[in-house]
Amino acid sequence: MEQTATETPQNTFSCQLCGLSTSFTYYGQKPPNTRAIVLLEECFVTKDPFSPDKEKFLVLGSTCSLCGKCVCVGPDCSLFYTKRFCVPCVNRHLDQFPQQVRAELAKKSQSSQPGVTQLT
Ligand SMILES: [Zn+2]
Ligand SMILES: [Zn+2]
Repeated sequence: MEQTATETPQNTFSCQLCGLSTSFTYYGQKPPNTRAIVLLEECFVTKDPFSPDKEKFLVLGSTCSLCGKCVCVGPDCSLFYTKRFCVPCVNRHLDQFPQQVRAELAKKSQSSQPGVTQLT
């Protein structure tokens, strides 16, 4: 467990892998103002700025269940398989993931272009 000496005054989520940094409005499994949504994991969410619908939100990222790093949901940074795993942890424990997951990762590493940040 790492100790954070200073608490961040603002709610800022930053991905420890790709460096994506953005503010979030909620961390947890059940975002407020949503009727019956319970997320599969505790994660960082923010209101969808492009939607007038108050119940719309975006999942920014979560913490890796193995190393505890904050990682974004980008396919180059993390993977959700029953829990959230960062890509370095997935690679470290590849043999413990089913063939299907490994195949998907193999596909990704072929198609991903390093240095290109995809932001929508
Ligand atoms: Zn990331
Ligand atoms: Zn990890």
